Amino acid sequence: MTTVGILGGGQLARMLALAGAPLGLRFLVMDTSAEACAGQFAPLLVGDYRDEAALADFAARVDVVTFDFENVPAESARWLSARVPVFPNPGALGVAQDRLAEKMLFRELAIPVPPFADIASREDLDAALARIGTPCILKTRRLGYDGKGQFRLKPAPGAGTPAAVQRVADQAWAALGPQAERVGLILEAFVPFDRELSVVAMRGRDGSFDTWPLTENWHVDGVLSASLAPARVDPALAETAYGHARRLAEALDYVGVFALELFCHGGELLANELAPRVHNSGHWTIEGAETSQFENHLRAVLGLAAGATTVRGHACMLNWIGELPDPAPVLAEAGGHWHDYGKSPRAGRKVGHATLRADTPEALAAALQRGGDALGRQSQVAPAIAALRG
Ligand code: ATP
Ligand code: MG
Ligand code: MG
Repeated sequence: MTTVGILGGGQLARMLALAGAPLGLRFLVMDTSAEACAGQFAPLLVGDYRDEAALADFAARVDVVTFDFENVPAESARWLSARVPVFPNPGALGVAQDRLAEKMLFRELAIPVPPFADIASREDLDAALARIGTPCILKTRRLGYDGKGQFRLKPAPGAGTPAAVQRVADQAWAALGPQAERVGLILEAFVPFDRELSVVAMRGRDGSFDTWPLTENWHVDGVLSASLAPARVDPALAETAYGHARRLAEALDYVGVFALELFCHGGELLANELAPRVHNSGHWTIEGAETSQFENHLRAVLGLAAGATTVRGHACMLNWIGELPDPAPVLAEAGGHWHDYGKSPRAGRKVGHATLRADTPEALAAALQRGGDALGRQSQVAPAIAALRG
């Protein structure tokens, strides 16, 4: 009996446990909260990730360790890796935890990125603003997710005058400056992208590499709202994206599934960030691909052969944020699938998702239209419908 240990007990751990059941796997999930939703399907060890006694207990009870979220302290991952195999490796996790390290690696691998600057002080911010200009985004280097820990600097009224620039800098520094020492900051140019895309990819313990087709994503207030796959893109652009993902995986000696988030601007791809885990933009693979990201992540970390990443028709995933809508309109669709994460409702929280799947773009657009109308979610489905009909 193989037991997979997962650090973090959110919906990703929950979906990993669900995917692992047919493979005969056991799980042990570690989380700081007794309410962690993966605990509804797998034994839950409640403890602090920095508590050596809790980590030792966890390590003793599992055969391999992986992650549901990337903000587990890298030292804890390193401590565990001296006792039990940990995938992805703590070095890769460490790079993906830090927006600055991640962007420097992208550059080193000739993966284009938006202009950025490391910000350690208010003086750094002023200098970077003079170089990068507005609009731009100040982000924490570490610990951000779902658009948290970010401040958007918009061109101020009277734009360009030194006083106007100082005013936006003051606001940004008031919002995030107090965190500069603890989590670091980075300033990034705002990319007026045409589309957001992601590559969900995997690398095995034997170095084998594969990706699911490119996914197109739409965010609302920094949080993923909808994903459509396969994205309609020029095949050469898709090849470029897969090449970026492959070079990253090889450079990091990465094992498991990861996502590379990309902005597409004027036909060029700019890398946003690397998520060192299964990813929200890959949830559609559960019903929309031969093998899901969750199953293939488990196969990868266990050293098993990867399943095919071939798509089944066309799929669109809709995130439910804050609270779940009525499932009936989705369940009424032939290709409608419902995922309730078993979490209590809370503003801004990802509480579930739906995936609609169909054999043709026309059929998927029609199903999205019906579902969107019935749920009063027309604005959430509209971009995907437009992309399918485009
Ligand atoms: P998550 O890990 O949940 O994807 P995050 O908190 O790490 O989110 P980002 O991915 O950096 O945040 O940003 C969230 C979203 O905000 C992006 O997907 C994109 O829509 C928008 N965004 C972030 N950075 C930029 C940028 N430089 N230019 C334009 N839009 C951006
Ligand atoms: Mg992120
Ligand atoms: Mg992101």
